[in-house]
Order: sequence, then structure tokens, then C-alpha cells
Amino acid sequence: MPTPDRNLHPVNLPTGWTTTSWRDFTAMQLPRYPDPAELEGVLAELRGLPPLVTSWEILALKQQLAEAQEGKRFLLQGGDCAETFDACSSEVISNRLKVLLQMSLVLVHGLRKPVVRVGRFAGQYAKPRSADTETIDGVTLPTYRGDMVNSPGFSAEARRPDARRMIKAHARSAMTMNFVRALIDGGFADLHHPEYWNLSWVGHSPLADEYRRMVTAIGDAVRFMETLSGQEVHNLNRVDFYTSHEALLLPYEESLTREVPRHWGWFNLSTHYPWIGMRTAAVDGAHVEYFRGIRNPIALKVGPSVTPDQLLRVIDVLNPEDEPGRLTFIHRMGASHIAGKLPPLLDAVRRDGRRVLWVCDPMHGNTEATANGYKTRRFANIGSELEQAFDLHAAAGTRLGGVHLELTGEDVTECLGGARELTEVDLERAYHSTVDPRLNYEQALEVAMLIVRKQSS
Ligand code: PEP
Ligand code: MN
Repeated sequence: MPTPDRNLHPVNLPTGWTTTSWRDFTAMQLPRYPDPAELEGVLAELRGLPPLVTSWEILALKQQLAEAQEGKRFLLQGGDCAETFDACSSEVISNRLKVLLQMSLVLVHGLRKPVVRVGRFAGQYAKPRSADTETIDGVTLPTYRGDMVNSPGFSAEARRPDARRMIKAHARSAMTMNFVRALIDGGFADLHHPEYWNLSWVGHSPLADEYRRMVTAIGDAVRFMETLSGQEVHNLNRVDFYTSHEALLLPYEESLTREVPRHWGWFNLSTHYPWIGMRTAAVDGAHVEYFRGIRNPIALKVGPSVTPDQLLRVIDVLNPEDEPGRLTFIHRMGASHIAGKLPPLLDAVRRDGRRVLWVCDPMHGNTEATANGYKTRRFANIGSELEQAFDLHAAAGTRLGGVHLELTGEDVTECLGGARELTEVDLERAYHSTVDPRLNYEQALEVAMLIVRKQSS
């Protein structure tokens, strides 16, 4: 992908910004490390380690996101709520990739436009939490904040923030990235072989027939083109795959923020596409300060409490020059709030003529607890929020350019409903998430089909 010209010109560093200027602002959700000297040692070590991605890739993604803003592409962003060190395995990584590739095939075929594929992986190891502490049987300990910070077991030792976990997170992210790159470079994503993406545990899925029909139709089209032209259709064996994570743990992000002379500016080279979570999105907070100075495309989660004025102020700070592809808003309102909360935000941004990519996260506003004690989400609510999002954008004259999902390729039962109609009793069978409930393979594929149905109706 050629790098757009404007990126080869010097850029003005935002006034007052340095990689550490965020330290002068209020930082929510950061752990308190017990040993500051150890923390400094870890950060020095990280600063010396190679980055995980390059500025070339980051700028290519920014270009694709700019095209998504214009309606020429659709963004599919998905993966775990929280990656864990234990799940950094061949099977988990390749299964997640298979689901995302199958979904993107459904979307490309149904929407008739290229899909920007972004994983929530290779760095999604730090989590914001609603409380700082957790009390069980009279014992109060710090909450689990993701494997990059501490561990989920309920003991003082497990919950102690350990700076050295950042080194491990960097290494696990590099291993994940390395394996994804090798799979893709080796032909795993080749459209001539969609059978590579079959998941062994699926068996007969209620959706399998529809998916198989689509694959056959695409295979026929590819063979037809190849027969007609007498040669292989190129570029079908390669796809671009990008990474993203919530850039929550600012000391870690800072240590991987590097100046790239060739591209004049500072890039977060731990991921292509970092986002700011809802709990750290304050316009005068440390996270927004950090993000305003990096040149990556960035995203911000937008929840139901955000006002139109706040949204316009945050655009002024994060994308003052209205750069294409720079800023994504991921709204996550909940099925019962979206109709009331989203339209005023869409109107304000449209009236001001601001360029953003609008993406719907139909997961985080629809979390609930069941009577048997599980944190879950109902497929019906996820689908409803997504369908409403398309309608609300159409009514406002804006465009929904993508979807942000929590999903896995593993055989889990964490969300209710879907084609197999999972019930509360099913949650007991395979609930593995350490934080939020994910769509399993079938439910994820069903979301992709729902998007296509909605867009072609
Ligand atoms: C998440 O994406 O896992 C998350 C915590 O989301 P939000 O910031 O939207 O609550
Ligand atoms: Mn989550």
C-alpha cells in the first residue's frame, strides 16, 4: 500500500506534548506499583526492546480507515475482552484468526466492499475496572487489572501489581504478532482455500449451510475469473491484518512510543490502532493527553453519558487538523439507550463538519448478570443495538463504518441466545473469560450475517 504523500512531510508536534507529558494530568485506572525503582528499570528495558509494528503499517492502516470514513471500506475489529498469558497458544491464536477471516469473507461478499481487519490482540492485556478493590469473605484486595498488571487469583501475592509483567506482555504480544504474520504470509488467508479456516469443534452448525453456500459461490466466481483470464487472480492469497488494544497502561505505552525519523513524528509502535476506553476518556485526563501526540490512527469509546459538547471538545484535542483516518468513535450505548443517546452526538459532529469514523460496539452497553452469577450478554440485545445503529446513522445522514466485537474462536458459552439458543444453564458448561463475555464462533458469524442482511434490506 503506497504511503500517502502528506505523511512524508514534517508535522507539527502538538504544543507542549512529549512522550511523558501525560504524567502531569490525572491518570485514571493505573495501578500503584509498590517498587518505583523496579518500575523504572522495567521501563528502561522496554525502551531498549524492538517495537511490535512499524510506522509504514500504521500509515497504511490510517489510509484504509480514511477510506472507511468515505464508505469505501467497512471495519471489522474483534477479539478477546482480555487476552491472557496462558492463552498465548497456537490454537487460540489461529482459531481467533479463523473466525475473523470467516466473518470478513461474509462481509466482503455481502457488502461488496473491502473490509479492514483489525484484531483486539497482541497487546490487549490491561483492563479498566469499575472498582479498585474486591472484597470476598471480609478480605479486601486490589482488583485484577489484566495479565499485564497482576493475576486473577484471589490472594495478596496474585493481586500485587508487578511491573515485570509488562516485559512478559511485550514478549507475548510479539509472539502473537509473529505467528499471525507467519500464518498470513504463508497463505493461511488464501481465498482459494477457505477450508483452512474451518474450526474443528463446530460440527454441524445451524449457520454452516448458509456459510458454505457463500463459500461455494465465491469459489465459483474466483475459478470463473481465473478461467476467463487464464491466470491466477492475484492478491487473493494475501490480506492485511492489523492489531489494536486499549492503551490503558500509559507507562507501557510510553516506553514503546518512538520517534520515527522517516515519518517525522512519534508513533506508538506497540500496536497499529490504540483506543481510549470509556473510563479514561476525560478530555482533560492523562490518556487523552498521551494520545493527542502520537501519529497512529486512534479510537475513543463513547458511552451514554457523553454530551455533544464533550465530543466536539475531544475532537479539537485529538484531531485539530481534521486529518482523514485519524479519529474513530466507537459508540457503546446499550440496546435500550442507543435511540435516545446516539442521535444528538451524530447531529453535533455532522453539523460541525468533523471527520470521524463511526463504529458500533454492541457488546459493552449490554452486559448483565444472571441469577446464577454470570456476567453475560444476550445475543438479541447485541443484534438490536447493531440494527438500531445502522438505522440511526441513516436517519442522521451519517454512516456506520464498522463494528467492534468481543469474540473468540474457542467453544465457549458466555453470551446467551444466538442460533443455538444458549440459555443460562449453558453458561456453566464453558465460561472461560476472565473479564467480559465473548461471542463464540457461531454467534460471531451470525453477527456478520446480520450486518449483511441489515445493509442489503
Ligand atoms: C473493553 O473494550 O473491553 C472495555 C472495557 O470497553 P469500554 O471502555 O467501552 O467499557
Ligand atoms: Mn470488555
